Amino acid sequence: MSVKQNIVELKTKIPADVTLIAVSKTKPNDMLMEAYEAGQRDFGENYVQELLDKQAVLPADIRWHFIGHLQSNKVKFIVPFVHLIHGVDSVKLLVEINKQAQKINKVLNCLLQVYIAKEESKFGMDFKEVEDLLGSDTFSKLEHVKVMGLMGMATNTSDELVLEKEFRSLSDFAGQLRTRFGIMPNLDLQTISMGMSGDYQLAIACGSNMVRIGSHIFGERIKH
Ligand SMILES: *Cc1c(COP(=O)(O)O)cnc(C)c1O
Repeated sequence: MSVKQNIVELKTKIPADVTLIAVSKTKPNDMLMEAYEAGQRDFGENYVQELLDKQAVLPADIRWHFIGHLQSNKVKFIVPFVHLIHGVDSVKLLVEINKQAQKINKVLNCLLQVYIAKEESKFGMDFKEVEDLLGSDTFSKLEHVKVMGLMGMATNTSDELVLEKEFRSLSDFAGQLRTRFGIMPNLDLQTISMGMSGDYQLAIACGSNMVRIGSHIFGERIKH
């Protein structure tokens, strides 16, 4: 199937209130354009240099989502145009995003990446780190970021019971945080970014409203 057909088909399976992000890392611009021509506007990238190269030449109304692991020293390159940074996994990174956004008088939307998988290798904060951050003085002073929700990656498994438990743990946690912290000038926990090609339907059933889908749209990736 073509990229276009994949998108059209996916849209029939995803409820209207769930945002589909086309994860285009390692894929060439002509494939992104095929998705764009099918109406897709939200694209996810994992590598800063690749994102910069694509953003420079692709249509200006694309909403770029940074979904990879972001190093603090690269924040300044993407802050001017990025729509949402999903992988905020430390206070240090959030402070740096705030600093760079302040320089250009912008407020940058972010998601906190929360650790839900059993695997050691996945990045993220644990529940307590997130609670401590949101309740901290440091956080209340960050006026140039807005935490719009949580992002999680489940264990790489086909065991639906494990996946469901992990997905539910993230949406339950978001609910607890909403009750505890409510809405603040820099906090409005609306978005739960979870679910990829293999597990997006389960993720949506467990409360996701933003899915990040790569190989199901663009085909398998050779690297990463
Ligand atoms: C690559 C990637 C995806 C997409 O994975 P697929 O299995 O190809 O859909 C989603 N989220 C993150 C964070 C990724 O790095």
